[in-house]
Amino acid sequence: MLGQMMTAPLLISSLIDHAAKYHGQTEIVSVETAGGVTTTSWGEVARNARRLGSALTRMGLAPQARCATIAWNNRRHLEIYFGVSGAGFVCHTINPRLFPEQLIYIINHAQDQVLFLDATFLPIAVKLKEHLPELKHVVLMGPRDEAAAAQLPGLIFYDELLETGDPEFDWPSFDENTASSLCYTSGTTGHPKGVLYSHRSTLLHTFSANLSDTLGLTARDVVMPVVPMFHVNAWGVPYCAAMVGARLVMPGPGLDGDSLVNLIDTYKVTMALGVPTIWLGLLASARKSGSTLESLKRTVIGGSACPPSMIAQFRDRYGVETIHAWGMSEMSPLGSVNIPLAKHRDLPIEEQHRLRENQGRPPFGVELKIVDEDGNALPQDGKSQGELLVRGHWVIESYFRKQDEELLQDGWFATGDVATLDADGFMSIKDRSKDIIKSGGEWISSVELENIAVAHPKLANAAVIGVRHPKWDERPLLVAVVAEGESPTEDELLAFYEGKIASWQVPDKVVFIEALPLNATGKVLKRSLREQFIDLLMS
Ligand code: ADP
Repeated sequence: MLGQMMTAPLLISSLIDHAAKYHGQTEIVSVETAGGVTTTSWGEVARNARRLGSALTRMGLAPQARCATIAWNNRRHLEIYFGVSGAGFVCHTINPRLFPEQLIYIINHAQDQVLFLDATFLPIAVKLKEHLPELKHVVLMGPRDEAAAAQLPGLIFYDELLETGDPEFDWPSFDENTASSLCYTSGTTGHPKGVLYSHRSTLLHTFSANLSDTLGLTARDVVMPVVPMFHVNAWGVPYCAAMVGARLVMPGPGLDGDSLVNLIDTYKVTMALGVPTIWLGLLASARKSGSTLESLKRTVIGGSACPPSMIAQFRDRYGVETIHAWGMSEMSPLGSVNIPLAKHRDLPIEEQHRLRENQGRPPFGVELKIVDEDGNALPQDGKSQGELLVRGHWVIESYFRKQDEELLQDGWFATGDVATLDADGFMSIKDRSKDIIKSGGEWISSVELENIAVAHPKLANAAVIGVRHPKWDERPLLVAVVAEGESPTEDELLAFYEGKIASWQVPDKVVFIEALPLNATGKVLKRSLREQFIDLLMS
């Protein structure tokens, strides 16, 4: 016997419809690529999304045609998210800082038909166009611009394209398992791989992300996604915000600390989300300018390990709660979020603070387990370390156009992260399996060593890598970026580890560099550091 309740497919178009119908006046603030700030609303975003969906349909694109974006976080990008997926096409967000060969590979592999570009990235399209035989239309995200038109024959202008679309366009209805969006992993080994999300996986992820024990966006929040829209759908924030009618502040191209502090203070941002490196810049800028980040209540930090000193600074100096989260492209991305349990309320305050440092517990919809090298489950005792496996409603089954390659192990996806789990499901990431340092048969967590180093007041940032060692195979090397106006010595930095970790885990050496090499999502490119310093301890 079936239940006798209404069913409608879980489609992304329903999110933007809801936002338009019940939060139509709620503002969307957008820093424009050309400079300046535009304020629109969910109602306007929805109208333009329908126009775009209609215009793309009139262009004759086939269902699920891939429409790529290379763009900042702004209002037009938001319209593309909903317009492309809502109309039954696939929104393929591309990371602009990939190498040209990788961009060519990705666009051809995805068989992108349309490419939406912010003006910043027009030179990329001009350079790559001849290598992209299947790409039919390039759309510049803005009004007509004759100088741009001269650079790329046939260039279409977004604002003109919208004019050809119908603001009353009816969203098509289709199976909720239909593909909605596509994101390629950065491909640290081999070619980048595509993760193809569905409408259903996206909607379920959105519901769960909006639980108050997850990210919990509300209609009273002013949310600033600093995490790029090309990085796992900005962690799902555009969908979450539409579902609850939150105000959005889209920061555009300027992601430096000063610009972000200014946006927070001007638009009374209550919640901001991004990777740790972004917040290092923001905290330094707030300290300098004297801003108290008055409106900010919560930051969500993930993408790489959030140093405990950062959580403490947000809490003690600015009264901001940091929610440490973990996830990956293959998980849409949310896998775990650090929100305390009822029983934690009675613990001494220092203990409560310490519990907020790890990557948290899985929300409904994802399960985590750790296994040893033979795939045997390890105990959830908070101590045993193993490879982290996941499964759930928004976890990948196979990579795009690689359906034949068996990806899962008994229905679980192996994350490539090494972690511990405790009895309540709180997870602590020790390292990526390729970054963990193996010294004389013992494992050293680079994350732990980095967390300590960035807490040193004379350092602006730090990374720890394993480099070759004649006796121990590998030893930790601290790569340090000095804070403005400081000049710490190597001994001083190494002494800072005393009493915080076992002495055999202390890095062997410190090298100072101007800036850490970062990828487009703000993660340290450890491979490039390793290449540079691999033999430093061999002589
Ligand atoms: P990429 O693989 O291209 O870097 P992802 O965003 O999918 O892109 O990266 C996911 C990885 O980032 C995770 O497997 C994990 O190693 C790391 N990561 C994400 N969040 C955290 C976190 N809070 N703490 C530690 N590592 C994290």
